[in-house]
Amino acid sequence: MNSRRTRIYEGKAKILYEGPEPGTVIVHYKDDTTAFDSQKKAVIDGKGVLNQRISEYIFTRLNNLGLPTHFMRTLNMREQLVREVEIIPLEIVVRNVAAGSLSKRFGLAEGTQLPRSIVEFYYKSDELGDPMVSEEHITAFGWANPQDIDDVMALALRINDFLSGLFLGVGLKLVDFKLEFGRLYENEEMRIILADEISPDNCRLWDVKTNEKLDKDRFRQDLGKVAEAYQEVARRLGILPEAGVRDMQGPDTVQ
Ligand code: UDP
Repeated sequence: MNSRRTRIYEGKAKILYEGPEPGTVIVHYKDDTTAFDSQKKAVIDGKGVLNQRISEYIFTRLNNLGLPTHFMRTLNMREQLVREVEIIPLEIVVRNVAAGSLSKRFGLAEGTQLPRSIVEFYYKSDELGDPMVSEEHITAFGWANPQDIDDVMALALRINDFLSGLFLGVGLKLVDFKLEFGRLYENEEMRIILADEISPDNCRLWDVKTNEKLDKDRFRQDLGKVAEAYQEVARRLGILPEAGVRDMQGPDTVQ
């Protein structure tokens, strides 16, 4: 690890370092994984490399479509240079098919097609276990204003349309996923852009034919072959090197 760099923050799956220029941040993808409010922990060899690669690919496609994201470029197999944003303290979950907490809350069998895509908001707080919130809470507590909420919802639904098609094209059903957005201040103006990552850590992806789970539920539900599932997602997207993940490990930090 390069000790000259200043660490800004260490989360459960990523470390943030100060970037080389003002307004930039380096994101380092770790192999660590957690679930159920960090009660369950593990290290999954190669996960960070796969998530970096998958997220890089998706964010590049979104940038090219004019959907603004924080992603600037990949620095090495585990690290990306991103724009520094002020993170909106909300987790935005988009759902197409019932699973996880939605199935539990409404007694819907996992796999039930929803009548339309549903967007939910959760307040980002580990201590509180990310409680679900409504627009009333968001505006009353000042986490975002009604215009911000409109922008976030519109972006989230456009991202859902793009991702659903992208994954369907490689035989995967996008069941649900979580997004985070940030505020970017540029020339006295504020824009809301997509931040964080999009990977099997924060998406539910099922094989279209068999409904096999190819995402973090393999870890949550002890289904085994977690890294293999993430690798399969990368392989289907056509972004896995011929030699497989072993070829992707390389040095931790190359600047
Ligand atoms: N999710 C996430 N981080 C969280 C909570 C959820 O990335 O802290 C993702 C999760 O992987 C799934 C979607 O958001 O793709 C919906 O998750 P859900 O609310 O069903 O919660 P879970 O069942 O994962 O606890």
